[in-house]
Amino acid sequence: MPRPVSVFYHSDCLLHDTGSQHPENAARIKVAKQALEEASFADNLHWHKPELAPVKWIESIHSSDYRNFIEESCLRGKHFADMGETVICEDSYRAALLSAGGAIGAIDSVMVDGYGASFSLTRPPGHHASTEKAMGFCLFNNVAIAAQYAESAYGLERICIIDWDVHHGNGTQNVFYGSPSVLFCSIHQLPLWPNTGEYDEIGTKAGKGLTINCPLPNGAGIDLYMECLEQDILPKIESFQPQLFIISAGFDAHRLDPLADIQLNTEDYSELTEWILKQADRFAHGRVVSLLEGGYNLEVLGPSVATHIEALVNHPS
Ligand SMILES: [Zn+2]
Repeated sequence: MPRPVSVFYHSDCLLHDTGSQHPENAARIKVAKQALEEASFADNLHWHKPELAPVKWIESIHSSDYRNFIEESCLRGKHFADMGETVICEDSYRAALLSAGGAIGAIDSVMVDGYGASFSLTRPPGHHASTEKAMGFCLFNNVAIAAQYAESAYGLERICIIDWDVHHGNGTQNVFYGSPSVLFCSIHQLPLWPNTGEYDEIGTKAGKGLTINCPLPNGAGIDLYMECLEQDILPKIESFQPQLFIISAGFDAHRLDPLADIQLNTEDYSELTEWILKQADRFAHGRVVSLLEGGYNLEVLGPSVATHIEALVNHPS
């Protein structure tokens, strides 16, 4: 039996205007939304509008100075939040708060609102943003905010983040590098910007062993992804016993994506999703939250997102 899945979307995330030629542009979430609305399982999706993330939760990850810098940079009409790749406009601060708000709402969905799985279809993405730094089209680190919120608001002590975006989730790694409560696992292409995420980056202090990086070579396909999950990530999940899974769901490892050279097919996102659902059933009462990160080919982003969400919908609850 298909089950309901909650999806967070706000049209004001379209107002984060990076220009139509920028890979991270507003059309991305438009095509993904359309693919979900036209999907055979559309009746199972419960759409919610995210609220603006409270400053308190933004500042649970980012410094107050950094949050102020982003707010003021946007409101003053600056064009970049960094040295030139992370474009902003006047509405970007609001969009970023809504994007983080979608992440928070998705946590509420699985913790108290009775959903097994939830997806935040928002932008800007987040996994490259560090405590003090915008980077790689990311302003606030949505997945880190979601994990911290789950810990602080619901008392969770062990959260697993699986980042399958083709780029290393360097911002998320930095945030939790010394944390004993977050198991961060990233599968990504290397060499590829930001050129971090080597095998030997494993965390530090109380977080030592709780960062797992699986760098993959150009041309890697689903077999290598499954090998990483089974051989590198699964043993750590079994010993860590996470109470919640959060996916940094980028779709730029698709073979047709313009920014990378990994060879995943659209249907492979189903296999990845099912693997995580299986582990969530074993350890986390089935709780899976997924947040959109990258994915830049507008032809395949919609079908890839739909394949991912279909697996969430069709999972027996
Ligand atoms: Zn990416």
